[in-house]
Amino acid sequence: SVRVRFAPSPTGYVHIGSLRTALYNYLFAKKSNGKYILRIEDTDQSRYVEGAIEGMLSSMGWAGVNHDEGVVIDKDGKLIEKGEYGPYVQSKRLPIYKEYINKLIDSGDAYYCFCTKERIDKIREEQKAAGQLSRYDGFCKGLSQEEINDRVEAGESYVIRLKLPENYDISFNDVVRGNVVINTQDMDDQVLIKSDGFPTYHFAVVVDDHLMGITHVIRGEEWLISTPKHIYLYEAFGWNKPQYVHLPNILNADKKKLSKRQGDVAVGDFVKKGYLPEALVNYIALVGWSSEDNQEIFTMQELEEKFSLERVSKSGGVFDINKLNWVNSHYIKEAPIEQITDLAIPHLIEAGYITEAEASHKYEWLKDMVGVLKESISYVGEISKKVDIFFKTEIQPEDDEARDLLKLQHMPLLLSKFTEKVEAVDTIEADFGKKAFKEIQKETGIKGPQLYKPLRVAITGKAHGPDINQVIKVLGKQNLISRIQYVKE
Ligand code: GLU
Repeated sequence: SVRVRFAPSPTGYVHIGSLRTALYNYLFAKKSNGKYILRIEDTDQSRYVEGAIEGMLSSMGWAGVNHDEGVVIDKDGKLIEKGEYGPYVQSKRLPIYKEYINKLIDSGDAYYCFCTKERIDKIREEQKAAGQLSRYDGFCKGLSQEEINDRVEAGESYVIRLKLPENYDISFNDVVRGNVVINTQDMDDQVLIKSDGFPTYHFAVVVDDHLMGITHVIRGEEWLISTPKHIYLYEAFGWNKPQYVHLPNILNADKKKLSKRQGDVAVGDFVKKGYLPEALVNYIALVGWSSEDNQEIFTMQELEEKFSLERVSKSGGVFDINKLNWVNSHYIKEAPIEQITDLAIPHLIEAGYITEAEASHKYEWLKDMVGVLKESISYVGEISKKVDIFFKTEIQPEDDEARDLLKLQHMPLLLSKFTEKVEAVDTIEADFGKKAFKEIQKETGIKGPQLYKPLRVAITGKAHGPDINQVIKVLGKQNLISRIQYVKE
């Protein structure tokens, strides 16, 4: 049965591309009734970033891309393991790598190399100058067992390399890329065990994928060039190979690889801005994959049913923020108002509109306000750019258009009529605005934009904005009276 894995290295924030890789693995597992595993690849200790594993797990949990096996956080916030194929953290598997490297040394498929960094650098330089491919020259390939023992015993530093045969074609079939062939003349005797005793990524990934029963390796296309090394290792061990699926890069609008310089790329950035998990997952699923009928809005369950590796595209998918915003605004409209309000509150506190205490005792009012703006935001954080109309006390016309409207000749008449209506009621009900406008129209003959536009400016300072009836309702009697009073003076 299908077993797939997502194998992040804990080197920092979670890139949106990692979320997509994880998601495709997850979806493929669900679709095939298989298992999805999360393995931590931390063999490069120098690149380890404190807290990166926790951050990764929390981003995945947020997105609902949950794994069946691997590292999880328990209720006390501790990292624990779940599953029968552990440990799922590579730094805890060192004895396993030792066992398997010994097999390769015994079979003659790997060898000790004592070359110093200086020597390696020198041959690299020479090869570069001669316009050749940079590869290890095999200097230590023929050392006798005796010499090896002596040098190890003497405490010399060494690595263990893969011994590739000369002039041998390595080929494999990639589900996205088709058949790939490379000759060993164009490959290096890859380091498998580093001088610190840790395996390299290339060695650990093969041993672990095999021992964890991985059937499909679904990962980013930057790993495609490493795959021949992995294939050769499977052959050297005599193991069955998994299917390979290399996903196209996610690109910027200018068709270059998506990078931090051009905007948000970390999942955390999107969480902070107030994107909904359903929306980000829905959108990112479509960057590099499409359904047969070109459906665009998917629940996770629909994705689980419809996803297929065959429809992963060969060319890079462009990350289109406008499309993400469109998808997100769809989910915001559908979401319960409480959810959006709860997400909006931290933004409103941060922008200084409300205090922590107000967030709870004015909650019902905040909910009404969010309800007015919900239709017009692409992400929840955007709300703090739109709420000013509800918090102003002194209404100033925002631009020339608003200023001109305030100067209309019939403005004073509108203001006194409107004040009259407001003062005549105890509370402003939902239909108050509509009714008041109708009555003023009847009494003054002023109608349409001539009526509500100047009043909108008087109430909000702006010539354009959300539905004015709803705004009036949320503002309430006292606010309306004091705003109009201010404008009159
Ligand atoms: N640890 C690698 C990474 O960080 C995983 C590559 C793979 O999936 O084989 O992307």
